[in-house]
Amino acid sequence: MKHFDVIVVGGGHAGTEAAHAAARMGANTALVTMRREAIGVMSCNPAIGGLGKGHLVREVDAMDGVMGKAADRAGIQFRLLNRRKGPAVQGPRTQADRKLYRLAIAELCAGQPRLEIVEGEVVDLLMDGVAISGVRLQDGSEISAAAVVMTTGTFLNGVIHIGDQRTAGGRVGDRPSVPLSHRLRELAPNVGRLKTGTPPRLDGKTINWDILEAQPGDDDPVMLSFLSQKPFVRQIACGITHTNESTHEVIRNNLQRSAMYGGHIEGVGPRYCPSIEDKVVRFADKTSHQVFLEPEGLDDDTVYPNGISTSLPSDVQEAYVRSIRGLEEVRILQPGYAIEYDFVDPRALTLTLELREQAGLFLAGQINGTTGYEEAAAQGLVAGLNAACKALGREPVTFSRTDSYIGVMIDDLVGRGVNEPYRMFTSRAEYRLFLRADNADQRLTPRGIELGCVGEERARAFACKSDAMDAGKAILDSIVLTPKQAVSLGLELNQDGVKRSAFQLLSFPQVTFGQLAGLFPELANIPAATAEQLSNEALYANYIARQQRDVEAMRRDENWEIPIDFDYGVLSGLSNELKLKFSAAAPRTLHQAGQVDGATPAALALILARLRQNK
Ligand code: FAD
Repeated sequence: MKHFDVIVVGGGHAGTEAAHAAARMGANTALVTMRREAIGVMSCNPAIGGLGKGHLVREVDAMDGVMGKAADRAGIQFRLLNRRKGPAVQGPRTQADRKLYRLAIAELCAGQPRLEIVEGEVVDLLMDGVAISGVRLQDGSEISAAAVVMTTGTFLNGVIHIGDQRTAGGRVGDRPSVPLSHRLRELAPNVGRLKTGTPPRLDGKTINWDILEAQPGDDDPVMLSFLSQKPFVRQIACGITHTNESTHEVIRNNLQRSAMYGGHIEGVGPRYCPSIEDKVVRFADKTSHQVFLEPEGLDDDTVYPNGISTSLPSDVQEAYVRSIRGLEEVRILQPGYAIEYDFVDPRALTLTLELREQAGLFLAGQINGTTGYEEAAAQGLVAGLNAACKALGREPVTFSRTDSYIGVMIDDLVGRGVNEPYRMFTSRAEYRLFLRADNADQRLTPRGIELGCVGEERARAFACKSDAMDAGKAILDSIVLTPKQAVSLGLELNQDGVKRSAFQLLSFPQVTFGQLAGLFPELANIPAATAEQLSNEALYANYIARQQRDVEAMRRDENWEIPIDFDYGVLSGLSNELKLKFSAAAPRTLHQAGQVDGATPAALALILARLRQNK
């Protein structure tokens, strides 16, 4: 029997990140996956990053993971979302060439020492009492290891739905993983069903692009990885179109033929990523929805119509798609579909993503009730690092809500569980002014270096950046002005009598680095990227200090009792979604209210204000 320190089951986004991380930590690692050429396949949308998700990619990258690097190599359109808002909620996103992304992930895995790819289906987990000892493959061979990470995505007992047609499958073109699903049901306490969906794929040659609005990428593309400077390949524009009244009518007339509305699906789907039939039902007053037409690759005519995922039968898909402007003559290359799969209640896991009851068995990705490549990759990183620690007899590695979005996600999953596929939003992070995409390296890379999972190239680049930041900050700190002096130099400031350094002056949104550099020539020595980063730091320094105080005050208020008949409906400022969730959960204390899925510090502050008023 072959032996490894760590076995990772599954070569998707969680699996590749887990295997790479374990190998970087020094563990001899086997990545066992059904099809070697499917490593790094994007099952759904050809894009990486976005709001909240871009933060996760940057954090994985800060620990020297693969997702950000691969996304940059494959990126055919880069956009910084929320560019006009503050840096805290900006999310880097790239639309990726599907093939280039897969190849980049495969190449990064192939180039990683101590990482071996094994092609095969895992059908059983070998146990030594309550501890994992290895896996059995479909061909009967066995591999032993001290730790196993399962990252089987949507494959466990996967069922694909198109209208009333049901087919067993892990995703279109892939068989499901059934024996492993049975085995997991024996080992894990609570296994449930979730579902997700994908739109039809269109033949770009049959789209009338000339009459559609084009959406280009940013002029100054922002990369996903801290190590990349600029795009690697040619950049393209996407198209934008809209559904209309006729589209909605076709859908309404055929609702009962949809797998979901026809009652064929028991799993719960993501509410914030609704299918087109969901949108038509739930937002009945809207006469149109935006559809982004995203080319899937530079040498591929396939187009992904973002916004119209569906489980309607193929003939209805064709009818509604062809009712959309620019798609009148379109050819569908592959119908959209919904998929149902098993997931494990993540409350059975520890913060290292190890099952509490089965030593050495870690779970990461869609199997834990999340959705999305980035969420999967971030969990893969955590499980991979910890599987290596377990196998090598090292201390576990955990992340907290105060240091990363990774910590927020894991704490949410393990502490609250999920009742629908979980995805990351910036609103989930109470420390989001500090947990920015732009400073993920400052927050995490030193820890990665200490752990030994960060390679030399990144460690060197990070040291250069840190030195430049320290030098820049020292120059900014050396310039000190009274408000009078500042105003006499043309800066807009209140006369509050407080002396401030140039760094502190940058905390005022009306004061820019460019203005200061025009006044103090020594600032010209600070490189542009460093100046931008220091400006972000300065902008949030006061807020972060205040946030810290708020959090401490909130901790003191956690024991406030909430009356059983408390009316959440009257709290203006609270989203309808949270009103429903709080009413259903009926928390008895403010602390319990904080445990409700989606509860934010702002929501708790509203409840607290009302409790104080009613006292
Ligand atoms: P996957 O990427 O699914 O990888 C699982 C891997 O495990 C595969 O390589 C598979 O071969 C391997 N595997 C499974 N069982 C075994 C076994 N027994 N032995 C060996 N190998 C095995 N995400 C979004 O963010 N938005 C969406 O709108 C969205 N829609 C989706 C629609 C569909 C139809 C599907 C299928 C997925 C969708 N996703 C969406 C989810 C996204 O694809 C996943 O979140 C992401 O791929 C999860 O990564 P993962 O690593 O957990 O699993």
